[in-house]
Amino acid sequence: MTRPAVFIASEKYRVHSYGEMHPLSIPRVSLTFDLIQAFNAIEEKEFLESPQASDEQLSWFHTQEYIQAMKVSEAEGKVLGEYRKRHNLGNFENPYFPNFFQTPATATGGSVQAAEQVLDGKVAFSPAGGMHHAMPNKAHGFCFFNDPALAIMRLRQADKKVLYVDIDAHHGDGVEYAFRHDDKVATFSIHMDTSYAYPFKGGEISDTGELNNAYNLPLPKACNDTEYAFAFDSVWAEVLRQTCPEVIVLQAGTDILMPDPLGKFKISTQEFLRVVSEIKKKSPEGALVVLGGGGYHPLSLARCWLGVWAILSDRELSAELNDKAREILRKVDWDMDEDEDYFQQFFKTRIDSPTDGPIRDEVKQVVDTFLSKRMNLNVGLS
Ligand code: ZN
Repeated sequence: MTRPAVFIASEKYRVHSYGEMHPLSIPRVSLTFDLIQAFNAIEEKEFLESPQASDEQLSWFHTQEYIQAMKVSEAEGKVLGEYRKRHNLGNFENPYFPNFFQTPATATGGSVQAAEQVLDGKVAFSPAGGMHHAMPNKAHGFCFFNDPALAIMRLRQADKKVLYVDIDAHHGDGVEYAFRHDDKVATFSIHMDTSYAYPFKGGEISDTGELNNAYNLPLPKACNDTEYAFAFDSVWAEVLRQTCPEVIVLQAGTDILMPDPLGKFKISTQEFLRVVSEIKKKSPEGALVVLGGGGYHPLSLARCWLGVWAILSDRELSAELNDKAREILRKVDWDMDEDEDYFQQFFKTRIDSPTDGPIRDEVKQVVDTFLSKRMNLNVGLS
């Protein structure tokens, strides 16, 4: 079934957040939008301005105390000492920046709106969302408000059974935590094993949750396209069969891509987009919410999310970048000294060279363990 697609964002994101030194102080949503426009790949009716989430919406998951701490920090122009420890704010991980409350609350409003659009028969992309680590009373892993959890809660208000799929390089711990007591939501996270990657705990295959509604597939460092395809394709059908969702919410963080400075996988854009395509194909009656997420290489991220938008809005785009797109990417302030040859393709095409290779035994083993564990549990959503 073909649904109309909407892209939800805000001009507010042109002002970069997080301060100079932070991995997120790069253009992401605005750059993606500029590339989409350079490809002439969006019509006015497909763009929705993201509203700011209301306090009431934020309180579906977050404590009043924490929401207030975020607001007071914005008003004071800094994080007060008492909030630093209590809410994990104002440090390197979750630094203060202007519009400290407004910016994440707007990203969150966009994701809730994305859920509403999908309830209304559309497919929606909220690239500023996907802040999957935030916890009820504290910021965590660059994430202030857990918009994926709130988008899912909006779908739950309409009594939908939801499968959350998280392909960000990091374990979707905050979302898993949010639905640990909800047997109508399942979370499926495929990520860098927490033995070597953030958040450094949880996300193991055996972490299935009290209700067995958490599916976790941790993978070793340096996964290539062949390994990722093998791992995803081997478990995906089983996860779908067990959960039978009515809506899928996809967190599409791009830090699994090869050039990402924080990720340790070696996935190409086309493998990423193949997975997104597959998830779209299997979304029940096309009911799919796509959120952003991690991704710390601006050029890699924007080329990839352009492709995500093309898939969602059923557009065929040329692989080659046009002059306008090249110019936009060339203007990004990003140090390209390393790996010069590889990076040159960023200005020619929106597709990377594939990273095919052998499938290591450790990857096969993870998949086997996952399948045998989950086949035995086989509970699904009630
Ligand atoms: Zn991540």
